[in-house]
Amino acid sequence: MKDAYDAALGRQFCTYCKIYYSTKEANQHENTNAHGTNAVNQLGRGFVEIESAIQSRIKTFWVMNDKVAIDVVSFLEKIKEKLVEKINEQVSSNNAIKFNVVLIAKFEKGENDKLDASFKMGNRRVLQANNVVLAIEEAYAALLKEKSEFQAKGSGWALAKVIGLELRINKYTPLRGSTYWERNAPSKN
Ligand SMILES: [Zn+2]
Repeated sequence: MKDAYDAALGRQFCTYCKIYYSTKEANQHENTNAHGTNAVNQLGRGFVEIESAIQSRIKTFWVMNDKVAIDVVSFLEKIKEKLVEKINEQVSSNNAIKFNVVLIAKFEKGENDKLDASFKMGNRRVLQANNVVLAIEEAYAALLKEKSEFQAKGSGWALAKVIGLELRINKYTPLRGSTYWERNAPSKN
């Protein structure tokens, strides 16, 4: 009942961060590095599934980097097989999905400047017939491009640590012409 009460007020409770936030801010809240870190700290290392309040989401997985000195490419290669496995599982049970990944890393400049940066890619559709390995490789290329663009324009930010990666599996609903026409047809009454 408490959940329904909070929902009525437009509030959402995050069990990982132990805070309330506005339901409209689910995306924003789940995008914070603190949320990912809190979830992983409670669920353990490796590939963990975390709860999401986002309606279009099927599954969210977080993987933390457990080594301090590891570059982005090595980290991505290390988790690739598992990422492919997770996407394959979801494609088999949902027929088609959309996914995207977010890479979070810590950068530093000089002695005191530190910055957490996240690199994202657009949603990518995966159907049963698609090659998931290829989809992941293209996702990686998009992340690495974003990272080098950030470093090129950020004048002097050096990678300090790869924090982790979030895999977001979203619903994919193909648009159906018939549904569209039914909904938009003039009322007969
Ligand atoms: Zn949270």
